Amino acid sequence: MPRTSPRSAAVPEQLGFAGMPERLFVCTPSKLGSYADCPRRYRYTYIDRPSPQKGPPWAHNSLGASVHTALKNWYAVTPDRRVPESMPMLLKSTWVREGYRDVDQERIAYRKALGWLDTYVTGLDPEDEPLGVERVVATKTAVLAFNGRADRIDSRVGDDGPEAVIVDYKTGRSGLDADDARGSQALALYAYAAERVFRRPCRRVELHHLPTGTVASHEHTEESLARQVARAEDTARDIMAAEKAVAAGADPDAEFPTNPGTLCSWCDFRRSCPAGQEVAAKEPWASVEHLERPPA
Ligand code: SF4
Repeated sequence: MPRTSPRSAAVPEQLGFAGMPERLFVCTPSKLGSYADCPRRYRYTYIDRPSPQKGPPWAHNSLGASVHTALKNWYAVTPDRRVPESMPMLLKSTWVREGYRDVDQERIAYRKALGWLDTYVTGLDPEDEPLGVERVVATKTAVLAFNGRADRIDSRVGDDGPEAVIVDYKTGRSGLDADDARGSQALALYAYAAERVFRRPCRRVELHHLPTGTVASHEHTEESLARQVARAEDTARDIMAAEKAVAAGADPDAEFPTNPGTLCSWCDFRRSCPAGQEVAAKEPWASVEHLERPPA
């Protein structure tokens, strides 16, 4: 969990030695999220070199990446080719095969994904040109140099004129609701950055869950975006404080503690982590096995 340690409160936030500005913390949403989930995992991912060996690839990551790339490429073709009939070619050409139990399971996942995509693109206007598709948006705050790649940034017309809308595709088993959209720090940071990059309001964030064809959305306010940015800055301060402490000789294991829990079963570093080794392993395909079962 993110810490608000006494030490972090003591770290100068804006000005460092002799009034020189502190360096900004360069980050993506996943970097901040990694620390918030588990400081040790953050250390394994972003600090330790060589990085501890990761476990094998996950089938659910392959499935998610395949669907995301197919939707990216959907917008890369001309509008006349944005028809559901194009989807088998788009999905097949960039299908990621890693992590599945066997070819039979992979085929089932492919057919499911194709069905989700077929339904999803049927509801899209082929003439729509988003402001960005897998678009990197970047901005700075007093503490952060933030950049992140949004799945899609739509151009829409709201009550007060043109606005940008953040769209994030989801392919996990569970549906999502408005609380998920409201609470997502990643979506809020994308919105905060997109508003500055495109110089138009960006308050609406949407989670498009392809397996259920549902959209969970939230309308941020200036205040709610500012709260999410402040939380991200708190996390960045904690990380920088821990890094400084380690550089000054503190024990890295104490500064980047483990956070054992259900996430450990899905953690790439489970086998390298003392806490992770206490947790039962999941098969790389565990999260796609439900696709093989008939709908309840
Ligand atoms: S196995 Fe668990 S405690 Fe260890 S790094 Fe991964 S998430 Fe953290």
